[in-house]
Amino acid sequence: MTVPRISPSFPSRLPNVGTTVFTVMSALAAEHQAINLGQGFPDFPCDRKLISSVNDAMLADRNQYPPMIGIAELRYGISEKIKSLYGHYYDPESEITITAGGTQGILTTILACVSPSDEVIIIEPAFDSYQPSIEMAGGKTIAVSLEVRRDANGQVASYEIPWDALAAAINSKTRLLMINSPHNPTGMVWQKADLEHLAQLVKNTSTLILSDEVYEHMVYDGAAHHSVASHPELATRSFLISSFGKTYHVTGWKVGYVAAPLALTKEFRKVHQFNVFTINTPMQYGLASYLADASHYLNLPAFYQAKRDFFRAGLEKTLFKLLPTPGTYFQCADYSALNITQAKLNEADFCKWLTTEVGVAAIPVSAFYDHPTESGVIRFCFAKQEQTLATALQRLQSL
Ligand code: GLN
Repeated sequence: MTVPRISPSFPSRLPNVGTTVFTVMSALAAEHQAINLGQGFPDFPCDRKLISSVNDAMLADRNQYPPMIGIAELRYGISEKIKSLYGHYYDPESEITITAGGTQGILTTILACVSPSDEVIIIEPAFDSYQPSIEMAGGKTIAVSLEVRRDANGQVASYEIPWDALAAAINSKTRLLMINSPHNPTGMVWQKADLEHLAQLVKNTSTLILSDEVYEHMVYDGAAHHSVASHPELATRSFLISSFGKTYHVTGWKVGYVAAPLALTKEFRKVHQFNVFTINTPMQYGLASYLADASHYLNLPAFYQAKRDFFRAGLEKTLFKLLPTPGTYFQCADYSALNITQAKLNEADFCKWLTTEVGVAAIPVSAFYDHPTESGVIRFCFAKQEQTLATALQRLQSL
């Protein structure tokens, strides 16, 4: 019997969206056996102690549904951690919810508070899930670009927060303003004065803040991470989103959390319960016991700073121009001065060429913009073993 072929036709919910660049570049890297410095994830194992904690939970038969909002042990641990690091107390019962990673926390936040025709401000370059998430909620994205500072040769030297453009973009329709520090992809880190500036901008408005802080423990050179939780005024109107994947080298576990004041969390949970309902039980127990030892995340800046410095030192021997990396595990580099014809390629084509012909995958920064933008800048992830970075550097130094 032949089965009739059905080709359903319906309007796309995301007509302008393809497959996320991280998936595309990881597939290309695998196909060409390139060193994958594209998608951000470590190539080294997580602590065996963390795995044992999860195993223990499974063997202790903690395998049924946890509470919808996440297990108490983990929520209380997060509350204590935020209080000790940033000085703000979130009630673990009514203000902290465990999510399936940062991305689900972001989508659920947007679905919970953005209504059709509400405006949401994002600051580009922005993580590629932001804009489609706003679109799925029926909101209108207002994209404001980071100011690009160039050096005397016209190469990108740094990115700055576009305060004037932000002030001009905020109006009575602005439901949400999304910020991200440490910033993916540029590595830029917000300062205390920046939070104060933001607080002044949103004062007397009904604008809420979504603060994506998944790289909170990757801030270098002795500097501190400035969370929205550390600013009393901003904390009252913010959804603080973080994740365990980056901090504990377990990006595949997809466990994160959203901390927000009672009224915001109430709406968040209404959506969360019918989105994923809850997050897998044993990993929550494993993370809860591991979280109790602060040394793991307190040691992270030194651990990644060594990798950053190693990678930068190797790239200094090339014609790539390095952007500052005060935070994250990403190194951005301007390739426009490389002495090869491919230096004229656009960022996406340059990354494809680098992956297939040079054997090093990277991410075009243009993928973080909704409108076509070419700055000649690409992003490398340095969350890799020294040997991986060394081999990648050898290849890059041949350019
Ligand atoms: N956050 C990771 C990055 O920027 C990727 C996450 C993903 O692949 N969705 O590379």
